[in-house]
Amino acid sequence: MKSQKSIKKVVVLGTGGTIAGKASHASDNIGYTAAQVGVAELLAQVPGMVGVLAGHLLVSEQVAQIDSKDMSFAVWQSLLQRVTVHLQAEDVAAVLITHGTDTLEETAFFLHSVLPAALINAKPVVLTCAMRPASSLSPDGPQNLLDAVAVALTPGAHGVMAVCAGSVHAALEVQKSHTYRTDAFSSGDAGPLAWVEESAVRLLRNWPLAPLDQAQIAMNTVVNWPRVEIVMNYAGGSAAVVDALLQPMPGVSPLRGLVVAATGNGTMHQDLEAALRRALQAGVRVLRSTRCAQGRVLTAQHAEFAHSNGLSPVKARVALMLELMEA
Ligand code: ASP
Repeated sequence: MKSQKSIKKVVVLGTGGTIAGKASHASDNIGYTAAQVGVAELLAQVPGMVGVLAGHLLVSEQVAQIDSKDMSFAVWQSLLQRVTVHLQAEDVAAVLITHGTDTLEETAFFLHSVLPAALINAKPVVLTCAMRPASSLSPDGPQNLLDAVAVALTPGAHGVMAVCAGSVHAALEVQKSHTYRTDAFSSGDAGPLAWVEESAVRLLRNWPLAPLDQAQIAMNTVVNWPRVEIVMNYAGGSAAVVDALLQPMPGVSPLRGLVVAATGNGTMHQDLEAALRRALQAGVRVLRSTRCAQGRVLTAQHAEFAHSNGLSPVKARVALMLELMEA
């Protein structure tokens, strides 16, 4: 039996999502409202949790209660602040976050980019979610929560990760890849980091490390998030969207950056390319990513536009915002 002093905590921060969603019929897996059930109640409903906790104390905190399609920078700030405080505490072994699936990859990448390296290279931060609401006939949330705790308490685990449908993904690679299946995430070419097999974690590669060029942003003050938008290349593309974005708009902060979800290996319609050149000349940073779900842009051509270092358009946008904040 562990003495009271040596008992470590697993802290679960709730932010909402489908995992906390409710529908009026148990058979309805799409017509629900996300973010209805508190995180403490969700945790209380997981059978087998005591066994997986192996003597650890489970504590929870509701940081937000939103559908993650509405994720905001204010919630990111609160989340970062609460994750940091808990990771710093000696009696906390790991931090879990319940999150909607829609923007989970952006939150995971944001935390991976800004949490102090000394903390995330020592302890795990595990985001988890569900594709079916808590009211479902067969909800996936409870199993995902159980798996997330198993990952968090695996000896040596560290870094920011996402757990869904028995797969563990690194924040850097994770991407929502399916609209409704319970196994909704992929790590693309890199493949998952690990599998969770009946609460045992089979690690396939090393636990993720914090990036070497960690962003330094002071989250205890109100942060001015630079405006960075995403534009896409497609058949019949034109300069119109970029040119419109470059126009000053009353009440909207000026555009600081653009990420282009280019076609293939970073190709663009010539008119879009000309507009992006105008954006560069106007002092707007431009990053070239690809709308392809797999692979990275290799820079043989269009070297005037920096590439996104293999980041998807949404993650490249976060990276560019952080870079502009530091500038
Ligand atoms: N719209 C929901 C959300 O992202 C979807 C989900 O959680 O699966 O909060």
